Amino acid sequence: MIKRLCKIVATIGPASASPSMLRLLRDAGVDVFRLNMSHGEHDKLAKVVAAIREIERETDTPIAIFADLQGPKIRTGQFPEGALQLRYGGEYRLENTYMASDDETIPIPHPELLNVLEKGDILKLDDGKLQVTVTEASAGDIKVRADTPGALSDRKGINLPGRRLPISALTDKDRTDLDFALDQGVDYIALSFVQQADDVKEAADLIEGRAGIIAKIEKPSAVDCLDEIIALADAIMVARGDLGVECAPEDVPLIQRRIIKACRNAGKPVIVATHMLESMVDSIAPTRAEASDVSTAVYQGADAVMLSAETAIGRHPPTAVAIMDRIIVATERDETSQGYDRISDDDHDYTTADAMTASARRIAEVLDCKLAIAYTKTGSTARRLSRDRPRAPIIAATPDRRVARNLSLYWGVRPVVTDDIAHFHEMIEKADSLAQAHGGVEGERIIILAGYPFGRRGKTNTLKISRIGMPKD
Ligand code: PEP
Repeated sequence: MIKRLCKIVATIGPASASPSMLRLLRDAGVDVFRLNMSHGEHDKLAKVVAAIREIERETDTPIAIFADLQGPKIRTGQFPEGALQLRYGGEYRLENTYMASDDETIPIPHPELLNVLEKGDILKLDDGKLQVTVTEASAGDIKVRADTPGALSDRKGINLPGRRLPISALTDKDRTDLDFALDQGVDYIALSFVQQADDVKEAADLIEGRAGIIAKIEKPSAVDCLDEIIALADAIMVARGDLGVECAPEDVPLIQRRIIKACRNAGKPVIVATHMLESMVDSIAPTRAEASDVSTAVYQGADAVMLSAETAIGRHPPTAVAIMDRIIVATERDETSQGYDRISDDDHDYTTADAMTASARRIAEVLDCKLAIAYTKTGSTARRLSRDRPRAPIIAATPDRRVARNLSLYWGVRPVVTDDIAHFHEMIEKADSLAQAHGGVEGERIIILAGYPFGRRGKTNTLKISRIGMPKD
C-alpha cells in the first residue's frame, strides 16, 4: 500500500551510518539518502553507499543517493586556543592567514572575500550566531567591530549576506569529492552556494549526465536568477540553513514559497531542507512549530522534505523519520492541500505527452482511480505525471535501475525495476500484478500510461483504464 506521496530525504552521519541503522531508516520511510561531503572520509562514505545498495537488493526497492558537495564555503582559520572570545564592541583585524597570531586577529584564509570587503559590510559568523561590522577596509588592512559577544571557534562559516563573490562554484575538494561520488554511482550531486546559472553549467560539464544535479538555493544572488538555475538543474533544494544566514529571517518563508512555485511551474522536483524537526536532535518529539513547518512544505507542494542533523547526529534518527512520515500522511489527507494543485499551464507548450499526463490526472480524479502505472524507459512519463500531481500514487515501471533510483525523489512516484513490455495485453497484465503487489484491491480502477511502440524511448501516447483483477475487461 502506498500511503505517502511527498518524499523523505535523510542525511547520513555518525548517528546513522551503520548498516543496521540505515535499514531502520529505510523501513521508517526514507526514500533518498544524502551524503554530506563536508563531513566524513571517502572510505567511510563508500561503506555507507555499499550498505544502502545492499538494502536496495534486500527490499527490492530502488533508492536514490545524493552527494552534497561542500562548495565554496568560507570559513575562519584557527585560533591558538581553539577559540577567540569576542567582546561586544571589541575591535579585531581580519587577516589572510590560517592561524591567528594574537587574540586581536580573526584569521580568514580567503583573499577573495577580504578583497571585496568595504566599510559598513556586515559579516555573519558561525551560521549567523555572531556578527561583526567592517569599520575600516583599506589596502590589506581590514578592521571589524564585534556586534555580538561570544566564542568564535576554529573553522566556523562566514557569510557576507547579499554579495556575490568572485569564486568558482567548485573548489579543489569538491572536484575530488565529485570524482569519488561519481565512481560510487550516486544518483544526484547537490551543488552548494550556487550564485548563478553558470555555476550549474560548470558542474554539468564535469558530470556529463552521470548523475542528476540538485542546485541548492542558499544565496540571494541565486534567488535573483532562480528561473535560469531551475532550467539547468534536475532538482532544487531550498537550503534554509545558509539562506537564513544570508537573508533576513522574515524573507525565508516567502523565498521558500517562491522557489516551490517556480519549481512546480517548471516541473522540477523541489526539496525543502534544514531545521525541519531540529529539536529531535535531542528530543523524542518535535515542537508543534516544527510539525507545522513540515506540513506547510507539503501543503505548498514540495516533492520532498529533508532531515539533516536529526538523522546525521541526532539521538533518535528512525523516530524523526517516522514522525516526519506521519506529518506528511496526515497533511496529504487534506484534499484542499496545494500539494495537489496542478501547475499553471498558461504559457505551456503542450506536447502529446503533456496532454496524456494532464488527462491521466483528470481521469484519476473523476473516476477515482487508485493508482497510475507508468511504463517508462527514460523516466520522463513518470516525471511528467508527478508534475501533474494526480490524486493517485504513480508506479513507474522501468527496465533501467538508474532511472528507477533517480525517480525515487519525485512526488508520488514508486519506482519498480521490471522488464520491458512487448504487447498490449502484457502492458495490462503486468500493470494488474504491479497494482496488486502495491496494495490495489480487486475491482478498483487504475490508469496505465505507456509509449507505443513499446520498449522504445519515446513519448507517452497510450492510456488505458483498467480494473484490478479484471485485466481482460
Ligand atoms: C543548508 O544550508 O540548509 C544546507 C542544506 O546546506 P548544508 O547543510 O550543507 O550547510
